Amino acid sequence: MEIKAITLGDMGTNCYLVSGKSGAVVIDPAVNSAEVTEFLKKNENKERLILITHAHFDHIGGAKTLSEETDTKIGIGEFDNDGLSNPNKNLSQLFGVDLTHFSADILFKDGEKFSVGDLEFEVIYTSGHTEGGVCYLLNDNLFSGDTLFYESIGRTDFPTGDLRKLINSVHKLFELDGKIKVFSGHGPSTDIDHEKQFNPYIR
Ligand SMILES: [Zn+2]
Repeated sequence: MEIKAITLGDMGTNCYLVSGKSGAVVIDPAVNSAEVTEFLKKNENKERLILITHAHFDHIGGAKTLSEETDTKIGIGEFDNDGLSNPNKNLSQLFGVDLTHFSADILFKDGEKFSVGDLEFEVIYTSGHTEGGVCYLLNDNLFSGDTLFYESIGRTDFPTGDLRKLINSVHKLFELDGKIKVFSGHGPSTDIDHEKQFNPYIR
């Protein structure tokens, strides 16, 4: 299994390209990207899926076109699907970004497990940065979106943000095995142990 991070768009969003023996996944296609499209095309013999951690414009901007160009379905947490077509919730209005509205094909529930080829994921519902944000756990790798960053946490001053919920969500992540690597929506990767020790927002 290989995880490749590429940073896309004006907000410096981390988009992750995950490839296994028989599965390939793109997490948070921030903007249209030839490299991301190429990744799914070259893996067309595998089962494929586009995953979205939360419905903010800087994580979803490339999803619709990518889905159409590569014939790949899109999955998101069940409570953030409406944000994909809501310019207030997805912040495209606030940031003046032209975004094609769409709806996901698969809506995940908290704790749901699913596989994409040999890649086995678990959904962890992490409300707070947005109402319906989720993290995706793949073996010892957590894709944390804008819930948990290296020594930081996500903003809660956008529509549907809630600091109390976000802190509860991060506590939930801190119950995971300490050695789990954390691949965030922005900035460097980290791990659960490091954040338990050094994250200044969680006490
Ligand atoms: Zn966000």
